[in-house]
Amino acid sequence: MINPNGCRWCGIEQRGHAIQYGPPGRHTWTQPTQQQIKDRMLARRAERET
Ligand SMILES: [Zn+2]
Repeated sequence: MINPNGCRWCGIEQRGHAIQYGPPGRHTWTQPTQQQIKDRMLARRAERET
């Protein structure tokens, strides 16, 4: 399932995110870019329609 506000790097939503590994290495939750949010919303809509 796609979370538009998921981590910029791995897509995990903020409340479920601890310190995750890979790419780009060990990181904490990072806000996605506006473009990523838009792309994910479109992808989620496409997913729902299929
Ligand atoms: Zn992450």
